[in-house]
Amino acid sequence: MKGTINTEPSCADPTDPNSISVAQALSQIDAKTVALQQSVLLPIRECLGRICSESVVSNINVPGHANSAMDGYAIAFLDLEADSQQGHITRFEEIGCSFAGRSLDAVCESGQCIRIMTGAVIPEGCDTVIMQEQAEQRDDGSIVVDSNHRLGENVRHAGEDIKQGAVILNQGDKIGPADLGVLASLGISQLNVFRKPIVAFMSTGDELVSIDKPLGKGQIYDSNRYTLFGMLAQLEVEIIDLGVIQDDFDSIRSALLDAATKADLVITTGGVSVGQADFIKTALEDIGQPDFWKIAIKPGRPLTFGKIENSLFVGLPGNPVAVMVTFNHFVIPAIRKLSGALPAQVPVVRAISTEKMRKRAGRMEIQRGIASLTVEGQWEICKTGKQGSGILTSMTRGNCFILLREENSGVEIGDLVEIQLFDWSQI
Ligand code: AMP
Ligand code: MG
Repeated sequence: MKGTINTEPSCADPTDPNSISVAQALSQIDAKTVALQQSVLLPIRECLGRICSESVVSNINVPGHANSAMDGYAIAFLDLEADSQQGHITRFEEIGCSFAGRSLDAVCESGQCIRIMTGAVIPEGCDTVIMQEQAEQRDDGSIVVDSNHRLGENVRHAGEDIKQGAVILNQGDKIGPADLGVLASLGISQLNVFRKPIVAFMSTGDELVSIDKPLGKGQIYDSNRYTLFGMLAQLEVEIIDLGVIQDDFDSIRSALLDAATKADLVITTGGVSVGQADFIKTALEDIGQPDFWKIAIKPGRPLTFGKIENSLFVGLPGNPVAVMVTFNHFVIPAIRKLSGALPAQVPVVRAISTEKMRKRAGRMEIQRGIASLTVEGQWEICKTGKQGSGILTSMTRGNCFILLREENSGVEIGDLVEIQLFDWSQI
């Protein structure tokens, strides 16, 4: 018997009219996510990796005084010029030595010089330092210098690194090792940073078993809570692992409500498709506000985003690779915004593909690749092999995502593709 059947849109369709683009999803996440406002005052070492919640203005010059960049002799440049007209060398009388941290109370008169160490204050009457390798000490104790020097040589000026009144940190800046050093050089011992977002996560699925139990028929170990833990642990967030929740509307509903009282962001995995055991969307509709649930992306098309009371909610797909891909693409920007960090561009580089890649236009596909740098300095890329969204070893074998954008309809050998090296510490 011939005939046609009516089918719902599915992930097997080339494009799904109900899907939104990756860019739309990102802008909805951005619009819905509000930065946490509370800040904490911490000793600066504890601020490493945290997001600054205030602007910091320097109230001193760094360095605070003109000082020497070299071990050598401090002189007045004018002395040198005058004498260099006749014979091109100048003889100086050394009248003392200036050490870093022990300034010399001497005034250098014309024809005199002061032995000076790196970091020592430039003595009064001097404006130039001749490095010791370019000066000669004669037997009579005098110092001889040729004319081949310039005014101000080897002198570090007061405020040349940081001027008094300069803004050195802005709200939203992430504190790195150099920032700690700059804060210390200003004598700042404590800094206000935003508190860390609290992120709770749970897995959903009747088939899931914890790793300390034997597997029954049809059961699998819960790996998503481990990859999620790993990715979250590399960010500045507080983590709450809420375990495994069964595929049951009431259990999911109450687990989500409970999570929302504890966390700023609640993440689930699994149960976001249209199967009969997929309750995340309906539970969210009951207790919160779902924003969307299909994105034109592979892997990771079914994804729910929304709010439960004051918490953000992200329902990631169940497939292990889709979890990592969608976390990287959608959850990290949300956490970044929650943290109060300024928007950042994720570094993407172009690589020459060493193989053909099949790709359907109309959705973004994120494949796992192995990137290597050739001796000519060009990135080359090949796939990790099978790209199924359940093949988690594609993530352990690979070192990057291959980003095939919506408009791309396939890759030939030699084509340039965009890659994003794995980095789970992007905030
Ligand atoms: P779902 O989105 O719940 O239909 O799950 C999609 C696929 O991912 C199924 O094959 C699940 O068994 C698998 N899956 C879901 N959650 C997990 C998990 N926590 N660890 C490993 N695999 C999972
Ligand atoms: Mg499931």
